[in-house]
Amino acid sequence: MPGSFRIGKIAGIDIDINVSWIIILVLLTVSLATGWFPQLYPGWSTATYWLIAFLSSVLLFVSVLLHELAHSLVARRRGLPVKSITLFIFGGVSNIEREPPSPGIEFQMAVVGPLTSLVIGVICFLLQLPLRGSNSPLEGILYYLAVTNILLGVFNLIPGFPLDGGRVLHSIVWRLTGNMRQATRVASLTGQFIAYLFILLGIWIFFAGSILDGLWLGFIGWFLLSAAQSANAQVMLTSVLRGVTVGEVMNPKPTTVPANISLQQLVDAYFLPGGLRYALVMQADHLVGLITLSDIRHIPREQWGQVPVSNAMIPLSRLHVVTPQQSLSDVLPLMAGRDVNQLPVVQNDALVGIVSRDAIVHYLEVRRSLGVDTSKSDAQNQLHNAA
Ligand SMILES: [Zn+2]
Repeated sequence: MPGSFRIGKIAGIDIDINVSWIIILVLLTVSLATGWFPQLYPGWSTATYWLIAFLSSVLLFVSVLLHELAHSLVARRRGLPVKSITLFIFGGVSNIEREPPSPGIEFQMAVVGPLTSLVIGVICFLLQLPLRGSNSPLEGILYYLAVTNILLGVFNLIPGFPLDGGRVLHSIVWRLTGNMRQATRVASLTGQFIAYLFILLGIWIFFAGSILDGLWLGFIGWFLLSAAQSANAQVMLTSVLRGVTVGEVMNPKPTTVPANISLQQLVDAYFLPGGLRYALVMQADHLVGLITLSDIRHIPREQWGQVPVSNAMIPLSRLHVVTPQQSLSDVLPLMAGRDVNQLPVVQNDALVGIVSRDAIVHYLEVRRSLGVDTSKSDAQNQLHNAA
């Protein structure tokens, strides 16, 4: 995520902080030191208010971290690789590299986060009980952590994407219907419905006179709405691409060109007659690179006669190579992450084809216009996982 920096590693998982969190930490400390604590616990010194406010904000941050760690550790125990945890303005995200393969695993991964928050909240609540009325800073911190963690747990259990509760709902519908796409539709629609409720409630409160509370609720609603929509698109795409391999959509006879000809020869003999936009570059029988129209355009036209293809191409060392067995759901992120449109397909060190973004889009369009549902491949996946 842009604007994040690493603060350390816990159990092999990188912990990143987004700059937005620092801003929230400051705002939270100010509002606790000047609002919450003086109202609930009058009579402390100014220094105490600021110290306790800062400590409480940092401990809330630790609580959010524990919530995310719970998601990540369960994911890893179930065999899903976890790269990092990023803490940002609304809490945290665990960057888990694969979608859960079964509803059971998804349920465990999702529910453990809010459970962790609720457990921390209840423990803090019980610990502050004997201190009730003592007006002590310890009571203040414990009570604050009890309230925020319980709110965090309850808020995250709201059953709509992108919240944990949405994942819980998704896993339950998935298990009941056996259809992951239908589960995604249900969790996404519920998420959008809840987001609209937040926005409406925000508008209501705004006009009832609590301008700031209204804006805040509306902002949460807007955030939930856009996240629910993008989570939906993401999961839909993954579920469509999941059962499809590179071998099914690749072009098995890509145009190849020799590395030692000049760009002028390349354009005259290959690109213009064939209407090509890219070609794989070979030296003897070996793949050495890829050349595209934009690589050619980067060289001034008057030099085309002298520059060999091998000097203008993207060399193999900078290309990502895929195999025919790889799933499209793994390959498309590779293309997006590296901003490339074609990837060579290699099997046992030999070139067997090329897979392009165009071909994937074309495949999706054909599939959509034929109305081919993915429930079959979902069922196949479940069989694989059960085996
Ligand atoms: Zn969570």
